[in-house]
Amino acid sequence: MTHPLNADLHCHSVVSDGTLTPEALAERARGNGVELWALTDHDEIGGQARALAAAHAQGMKYLTGVEISVTFIGQTVHIVGLGFDVNNEALVQGLRATRGGRTHRAREMAEGLATVGIKGAFEGALPYVGNPELISRTHFARFLVESGVCRDTAEVFRKYLTEGKPGYVPHRWAELKDAVTWITQAGGVAVIAHPARYKFTPNQEFALFTEFKGHGGQGVEVVTGSHSAAEFVTYAHTAQEFGLAASRGSDFHSPLESHTELGTLPLLSSELTPVWELLGHRIQ
Ligand code: AMP
Ligand code: MN
Ligand code: MN
Ligand code: MN
Repeated sequence: MTHPLNADLHCHSVVSDGTLTPEALAERARGNGVELWALTDHDEIGGQARALAAAHAQGMKYLTGVEISVTFIGQTVHIVGLGFDVNNEALVQGLRATRGGRTHRAREMAEGLATVGIKGAFEGALPYVGNPELISRTHFARFLVESGVCRDTAEVFRKYLTEGKPGYVPHRWAELKDAVTWITQAGGVAVIAHPARYKFTPNQEFALFTEFKGHGGQGVEVVTGSHSAAEFVTYAHTAQEFGLAASRGSDFHSPLESHTELGTLPLLSSELTPVWELLGHRIQ
């Protein structure tokens, strides 16, 4: 048995590093049968009003969403927030602070790339940036593909933008406790995004889940575009072990780059508590 609702609670628009508008995403989600949708731009909720209106225009239910960048034991971890009040002052301020260092970091990334002969990457990435406060590694990747340095964005990340590579600049994001608190105090539910993507040891992963729960986190992504079928099973067990609700989301960014379409992943299995069951009163 599966939870029959087609919910897609993770994707990105031009407000962060996606290539589609909130309206185009809503239309695409509905076209794939999505019934409950959330737009979860990185560190930014500026697209939420448009996404809500577009969801309703398409006949979908909506949960507010965001994906917050956090630094935990020296690694970047993403925490998805769902169903929060977009006008909550602490959340708005916290996200603004989290976005704050991105432009400075981007300039340092460009300096790193210049040392291996790639000139003008900051200026080159800018035309791909939809939101001036949200320059991301993805925008550099698109520039390096368009200018012929690499064949696709995966190759750019592998050769230039990940740890140890010339364009990588470690960044200090939000604290785990702060991100979870901003979301929960604003009436939402915090969710660990794509846990299989992190390179933690088993002990470090245990610490992440334990501390997350201790701070009031309530969910984990089980079915995501970043997980293999085997990882759906692994993290279904983790969800049950830690007493966390399960979420499902494609992490869709772009028709050309994303291998997972909105609303097309397997449904959550019936042994899990879907995260939207905790958010009945927050669904719009
Ligand atoms: P940033 O927040 O600037 O560090 O950029 C992180 C974003 O880069 C993620 O949200 C993904 O959209 C993208 N990304 C990370 N790793 C990869 C990869 N290996 N291939 C393609 N895109 C990636
Ligand atoms: Mn992204
Ligand atoms: Mn992510
Ligand atoms: Mn994402």
